Amino acid sequence: MIEVEEQTNSGKSRRILQFYLIDGHHHIGEDVDNHKNLTVNGSFNFFRSIWNLLNTKYEEQITNSSFPEYFKCRFKIKRVFPSPPLNFLRSDSLYANSWLFDQFIAFPFHDKFREKPREDGKIVQYHNSNTRLARIISSNESGCRLIGYCRINPLDEKLAIEEVDYSILNLGLSGIKLHPLSDEWNERDYFEENSFWLKEILKRALKYSVPVIFDCRFVNTLKWIYNIVLELEKEFIQNRFEKSYIYKNLKIIIAHIGFLNDDILFSALSHPCIYGDLTGLFSSRTRDLMDNLQKKVVCPFSNLAPLEQKYYWSTKVFMGSDFTYFEAFHIVDQLLYFFSEDFYNKIDGNVSIIQNLLSDTILNLLPNDFQQNSISNTLKSKSVTSLIFNKNLYNKVISSIFSLFKNNASSQNPKFFRIDKDLSHFKQFLDSDSFYTKNFTIQKQNLNSQYNFYFKWSNNPIIVSGTIPNMMNRFIIYFFNSSDPSKPSFEVLKNSATDIQMISNDSSNEEITSKLKVLIENLNNVQYSD
Ligand SMILES: [Zn+2]
Repeated sequence: MIEVEEQTNSGKSRRILQFYLIDGHHHIGEDVDNHKNLTVNGSFNFFRSIWNLLNTKYEEQITNSSFPEYFKCRFKIKRVFPSPPLNFLRSDSLYANSWLFDQFIAFPFHDKFREKPREDGKIVQYHNSNTRLARIISSNESGCRLIGYCRINPLDEKLAIEEVDYSILNLGLSGIKLHPLSDEWNERDYFEENSFWLKEILKRALKYSVPVIFDCRFVNTLKWIYNIVLELEKEFIQNRFEKSYIYKNLKIIIAHIGFLNDDILFSALSHPCIYGDLTGLFSSRTRDLMDNLQKKVVCPFSNLAPLEQKYYWSTKVFMGSDFTYFEAFHIVDQLLYFFSEDFYNKIDGNVSIIQNLLSDTILNLLPNDFQQNSISNTLKSKSVTSLIFNKNLYNKVISSIFSLFKNNASSQNPKFFRIDKDLSHFKQFLDSDSFYTKNFTIQKQNLNSQYNFYFKWSNNPIIVSGTIPNMMNRFIIYFFNSSDPSKPSFEVLKNSATDIQMISNDSSNEEITSKLKVLIENLNNVQYSD
């Protein structure tokens, strides 16, 4: 996370704000063009170099006034640090000064090793890359900060669909990367005449509610992608899919929109299913693109409140590095602009717009069990349990949870991990009728300081936590049975609460871990085994 301080000279006290950041476009592997980033260490080094460069820029700004006007600070980034659920990693030197991005979304390059045969001897492109990426995600080094998309080549036809199923269902990857140019299908004929398998991939993505990111260098490619989305939308509507279902689950991301200088871009981004990443932008280009987005992206939903319509564009774009193709200065320039006086004035001081660009937009695109299944569940109290404990135990409890899952041999691949600060569907899911609002009224007023996270391992419960820093010194973690993530009623949540005395303040890590095991066993109705 980053903490920023307002740079106003007025007598009022300066505001301090905190933001959660996700790098929405990042690569792991080794490209045939020799770009490579084989492990997460390269990623953390890159994040450190961004933080160092940013500080150098701030020093330059003080000593000579060479900063362009559009970079003039409204907020200055003062420090980077792990968000509360990952606080137990703070002392690990592997992550030191790397917290500018809390999490990052990576996918394979045009890998040298992408054609290594599958176990059955068949060659399915990127099968090896996708499997390797999933292994890195579940490694200790990733610190649960890495989210992965599989890379797929639609020219593999039926095998490409198998690879999508395998990547999402078996490897637990959270999205799909497609690269028409380097995988050699960036042609009008392909999109207009031979796109059957491409459409099949997009239909699978809708079924699994995972985003699909297209590398897109040319305006022509953008037009073809836009057309495919319109054709699919029409087909789904003809097949009696609800529009709201299509718009929620078909999520097409156009990479590097800063290079697509054409009005077709803004029409595409006005479509409910199309999004864009900001990779590669620097200097005044960030300002110019933001100006155009604000002017030209039109909200297609007339039922939204006027302010939501006005800032609809900020829910369609997000930050990304495209590491290793772009460099630290691209991210530094973007951050300088988003925290500038110029941008602050453009968004009428509404800092939630900045939060959208830094992480909320992309978090909303990632698949979420709770979002998908929000039917209220009043009967099965077996499917949820919770734990309440004092603040000083927070790091110990979270680190025990992590080690518990890491050490469980039956669940090698973490399905997913995410941290959400104050995200609306979590509020709907947990807050509206839960402990927070009914039992702890003070916390209701302080929802802005709340963090939620959940993570999900194969064969294990989903874990959700609501944490409220400095509020009554208490934290609550909810455990959900992964076979039943339906929305629990308030009564179910209340009955699930275990006694606050359950974990005493001087408990050892071993004691905490063994108590957690009992909770999980009861929830899963199975014996937990290491
Ligand atoms: Zn890329």
